[in-house]
Amino acid sequence: MKAIGLLGGMSWESSAAYYRIINEAVRDRLGGFHSAKVLLYSVDFAPIEAWQRSGDWDSAAQVLAQAAQSLERAGAELLLLCTNTQHRSAGQIQAAVSVPLLHIGDATAAALLAAGIKKAALLGTKYTMTQDFLTERLRSHGIEPVLPEPEDMDRVDRIIFQELCLGKVLDSSRRELVRIAGALQAQGAEGLILGCTELDLLLRQEDVPLPLFDTTRLHALAAVDLALEELEE
Ligand code: GLU
Repeated sequence: MKAIGLLGGMSWESSAAYYRIINEAVRDRLGGFHSAKVLLYSVDFAPIEAWQRSGDWDSAAQVLAQAAQSLERAGAELLLLCTNTQHRSAGQIQAAVSVPLLHIGDATAAALLAAGIKKAALLGTKYTMTQDFLTERLRSHGIEPVLPEPEDMDRVDRIIFQELCLGKVLDSSRRELVRIAGALQAQGAEGLILGCTELDLLLRQEDVPLPLFDTTRLHALAAVDLALEELEE
């Protein structure tokens, strides 16, 4: 089994979910007392969030590239960056290490394609919805993202940063997301991408009719597939 390195803390609420999903999957697949080999480098989110807001993506990339190198030195054989938004820096982080960094967009696109879905609603931070680091990655796999109206982008972004990243899960915000998902379905979306690793704390499959693609779960399971590859051959 390969050791999985998690670049987490963005926010730690979702890193905890990664840790649980990865361990549950290894337990289910190997049985008995098996659990995942995991290394976690959990950053302080405050400076990262401030750099995102001020547009200083290079400072965030530098800190994350150093953290990735620490994980590699400590024995990680593959890496996950546990946030969609910081995938803006995925290229710089990958360039700093020699182990693979599994891209969250690739894991998500693979699941959509396996389900036969080519047009999917995308909810995430404003950075993820308005910049092209995730949307272009999805398009490179033949997936067309359907994005909310600007006011709804603001609402989703506020729910992520002012509630979910701080551990607040509110029914009123769940209703907002359900309404926004309905509007995107009316525009032709055939699936719904939870393109922020905290959104699964709020929205579950039973809340919406569209098939849900939770980037946290898909990304974590892609790492387990790779970690167990040789064992299961
Ligand atoms: N975890 C979030 C994401 O998946 C947002 C936190 C961040 O800005 O990194 O995009």
